[in-house]
Amino acid sequence: MPVAPTPAIRIGSSEIIALADGAGPFPFTSREAAFPDATPAQWAAVDRFDPGAVDAEGRWSLNFRAFAIRGPKGITLVDAGIGPADAPATWAPLPGKLPESLAAAGIDPAEVDTVVLTHLHTDHIGWAVVAEEAVTTSGDGPSTGLSPFFPNAEYLIQQAEFDAVDMLNPKLRETLIDPLRASEQLRLLEGDAPLRAGRVVATPGHTPGHQSVVVADGRESVLITGDLLVNAIQLLYPDLAYVYEIDRETARRSREQLLRTEGGAVLHVASSHLTEPFVPMP
Ligand SMILES: [Zn+2]
Repeated sequence: MPVAPTPAIRIGSSEIIALADGAGPFPFTSREAAFPDATPAQWAAVDRFDPGAVDAEGRWSLNFRAFAIRGPKGITLVDAGIGPADAPATWAPLPGKLPESLAAAGIDPAEVDTVVLTHLHTDHIGWAVVAEEAVTTSGDGPSTGLSPFFPNAEYLIQQAEFDAVDMLNPKLRETLIDPLRASEQLRLLEGDAPLRAGRVVATPGHTPGHQSVVVADGRESVLITGDLLVNAIQLLYPDLAYVYEIDRETARRSREQLLRTEGGAVLHVASSHLTEPFVPMP
């Protein structure tokens, strides 16, 4: 039976699997305005490195994806995509197709034991908690409740991100935080933390509690960046700020530090928004 290939990298006993959720143009501003300090020569280098990230009209074209880490001790998901048709990421190409990508990778949502949310922007939490269309036997009709899409997973968010939720998106208290608390699936982290495979690294700046994930074995590692970098221009030139970073100086420091400390060995960058799910550290 032919099955669409699911992009994956093996690191030691873990498999890092890219899970597509959608693709579309960046709707807010031109890419030049999004990275105001980038030069034409730098954009030319980016267009050689990631030619799929610009469309015929010169607009920034993004992918939206999550990653799974599948190993002998369980399955961790990193980020939860743009979400279903009624998700809050109305600017993104909804509905996302993460459920189909999970199925293609042979992952049942009930098998996922950990969900790392890199940050609380709407294009990274879409499938975290979804509307529950439960059919009741009492004839009351469909429930309007919300429930975690990954019923057996612990959801990991940085305390600093949790503390900033009212600034980031106050609606998330009701649509994300409360349901995860009600099901006792929310765990707040303070800084770096080990995972069953790999580790969470605090990388603040894009948002106050942004976090990334590193999976390493021997000389080889995969860095799942979240929005530590959102376009290849920040991989080629990590000092370049993105206008939607909440603290640009802290974001730059986080990016340079992580790319430098992990960059000594063979490093694969697994990003949310670049055209290719895995790119070698340039
Ligand atoms: Zn994003």
